[in-house]
Amino acid sequence: MSQHFIDVILPIPLQKTFTYSVTEAEANFLQKGMRVAVEFGKSKIYTALVFNIHQKAPELYEAKDIHQILDEQPIVNEQQLKHWQWIANYYMCSLGDVYRAALPSAFLLESETVLYKNNAFSDESVLNDEEFLIFEALHHHSQLTVHQVADILGKKKVLPIINELLHKSVIEIKEEIYETYKPKLVKYVRLHPQYENEEALQLLLDELSRAKKQRDAVLTFFQLKSIKKPIKAKDLEQKSGVSSQILKALVDKNIFEFYHLQTDRIHFKGETNGLKQLNEHQQQASEEIKQSFEQHDITLLHGVTSSGKTEVYTKLILETIESGKQVLFLLPEIALTTQIITRLQAYFGNSISVFHSKYSINERVEVWNNVLDNKPKAQIILGARSSIFLPFSNLGLIVVDEEHESSYKQYEPSPRYNARDAAVVLGKLHKAKVLLGSATPSIESMFNATQQKYVLVELKRRHGNIQLPKIELIDIKEKHRKKEMTGHFSDRMLQLINEALEEKEQVILFQNRRGFSPIVECTTCGTSPQCPNCDVSLTYHKFRSELKCHYCHYQRAMPTSCGACGNSTLDTKGFGTEQIELELKELFPNYNIGRMDSDTTRGKFGYQKIIEAFETQEIDVLVGTQMLSKGLDFDNVSLVGILNADSMLNFPDFRAHERAFQLMVQVSGRAGRTKKQGQVAIQSFNPYHQILQQVSTNNYDEMYKEQLQDRWQYHYPPYYRLIKITLKHRDYTKVDMGINWLAKALQNVFGENVLGPTAPAVSRIRNQYIKNLMIKIPPKQSLGKTKEELQKIKNTFEAVKDFRPIRFIIDVDAY
Ligand code: ADP
Ligand code: ZN
Repeated sequence: MSQHFIDVILPIPLQKTFTYSVTEAEANFLQKGMRVAVEFGKSKIYTALVFNIHQKAPELYEAKDIHQILDEQPIVNEQQLKHWQWIANYYMCSLGDVYRAALPSAFLLESETVLYKNNAFSDESVLNDEEFLIFEALHHHSQLTVHQVADILGKKKVLPIINELLHKSVIEIKEEIYETYKPKLVKYVRLHPQYENEEALQLLLDELSRAKKQRDAVLTFFQLKSIKKPIKAKDLEQKSGVSSQILKALVDKNIFEFYHLQTDRIHFKGETNGLKQLNEHQQQASEEIKQSFEQHDITLLHGVTSSGKTEVYTKLILETIESGKQVLFLLPEIALTTQIITRLQAYFGNSISVFHSKYSINERVEVWNNVLDNKPKAQIILGARSSIFLPFSNLGLIVVDEEHESSYKQYEPSPRYNARDAAVVLGKLHKAKVLLGSATPSIESMFNATQQKYVLVELKRRHGNIQLPKIELIDIKEKHRKKEMTGHFSDRMLQLINEALEEKEQVILFQNRRGFSPIVECTTCGTSPQCPNCDVSLTYHKFRSELKCHYCHYQRAMPTSCGACGNSTLDTKGFGTEQIELELKELFPNYNIGRMDSDTTRGKFGYQKIIEAFETQEIDVLVGTQMLSKGLDFDNVSLVGILNADSMLNFPDFRAHERAFQLMVQVSGRAGRTKKQGQVAIQSFNPYHQILQQVSTNNYDEMYKEQLQDRWQYHYPPYYRLIKITLKHRDYTKVDMGINWLAKALQNVFGENVLGPTAPAVSRIRNQYIKNLMIKIPPKQSLGKTKEELQKIKNTFEAVKDFRPIRFIIDVDAY
């Protein structure tokens, strides 16, 4: 009698797949990509994934039986399995890590999974006896593990029951959940276009001479209109003292129109719901992209900010779904890109699904299943990096928007993948086309374009031929010397802000640090309060009068005297967004100042609320961190100010200059997008820095050439590849011994291409000491061989008993 086996992927970091024994009937039923419940370790149950079905018994251990089969059909397809293998191989992690990252957690129940009651559930009649028992038990216990459910029911095989409970929304799995935001719709009033000319207007006023209230409303409307801000229906009612019925009557007479700014931005800009007509430059770019796709697979679209890249993508997306293929549209961060999502949803309505790792479990499972079944709703998937893991079967196009963004890289936990690069590989597996887009392409992508690995298409003009913003550098060393600074503002910056505000235009101010000031220092003894868990100074947050650690979230009240010498001579050094906000409130008391950083956007919908307040012009000046750079599209912003460019430039990282350029150009791109040329002012102690010069002349090419030379000279990507190794442990000596051993072992193989060991700028986080090593891989050295050697050394390292508790992290392409 022949035996049957399956190799499965377990959702834990095992080096290899694990083999279980199955009956002949099971072997005939099972397919790759189905889930099975199996026991592993000390009677723990896991949801494993079938990777292989065969008849060869494992040599080193006796294969156990599986617990039960969980699926009728595969939920993961072969292309995905191939893609996962590439990721595991390339990023040096286990298939289990990839499996865990790829599947919505509801698919991965295991004995330790904690279940909660869903308070919204009430209809007990849909439950069978076993389900009811669990429902009951959750009234007495606030939570249950899958293990406990098995005890209650007196049986081992409970995952299907739990799946059913999840499906019926009786229970929940605890996770951070992101709820879909519904913008509050403020009603605004405008005059019907037919009254735009003087004559018609005069006639109207005559006509209304007998309807006094209506006439009042129209006259008040004109008073308010002189302020140039959109007019809220509520304000008009109040100021003119008329009721909402009167306004309604004027709307019915086609004198006024009600509108909503939110939807207005998308629908009423000249065209309706349909796609916009591409302008000639967009048309040309679009043609070039299509041509490039005839012979090549990957195209880089370098289009300046506000050139209408989204419109170009949209056209290609439409053509792809019309040809019956799926589209994946990758965005750097979903929460920060609600505007673009709304735009695409308006175009593609029912063919689009948004996938977000923080959506509720059911929503994620639903999107997964819709993609798996190739449902009409899932023809276009919009998502952040984790959406590369969805079960596509028929991909025709992948768009990676803002391809230079660092949030495409996952740093923690493993798999430490870059979604842009993984998307390129995914495209290859599906024979799909890949379009990377950015106003500031990453050096490596531009390099790939110059090496003919990608085709380059350029879009150099803003839509409507609006000029790129005028960029002015302000020398604040000089301004300090001449005493022309007020707080952190130069007289010139203040003048520009004043001018914009007087024109009723809005201002964005960028400061890449949150809080009030990053350092508190005693002027008597020089001591500054440190985080007890991390090797870093605490940041002062004035609003709550607190000191906070930005690494571990430790916080405590701001002391009134120095902890070391007892004198009350505490002073602050450096500045963050909070300080700028306070200074602005004093300088511009008649305007509304808003702040957008991770402190103000933390609450529910915090981010959307701020964006909305800025969009509806309730906020006049918005101060914020790099969140401001991500694809926001506001009509009325005429000035963008960067308060301190130097902190970005003096960063000890080989990409610091590239990143600073990208950030400044992107932030600048928020100015003057749709009406007139915008103005950008950059304050710096060193305005002659080459990067600032390149930003101010919008000279991407020169930046690219110079940076590339540096990379060549100092052996960095794109010429050399980098693998970073990090060791972490609570015990400093352990980490130190470990890293020294490792450095020697690696140097024996790779010689001078091993850098370090070094301690990072913050060398202890959450009480874990950190040490790094970097392996540089020259262009001619095989990446595969290098990784093999590294893996061997890692295995030896982990065989040493003393080193075993140390966390060993490998990060391939660690940038
Ligand atoms: P990018 O993504 O390149 O920064 P967007 O696609 O956001 O640029 O376009 C900038 C602005 O110009 C948007 O408000 C968009 O609606 C508008 N726009 C771009 N192209 C067109 C077009 N062909 N017709 C009408 N409006 C356009
Ligand atoms: Zn800390």
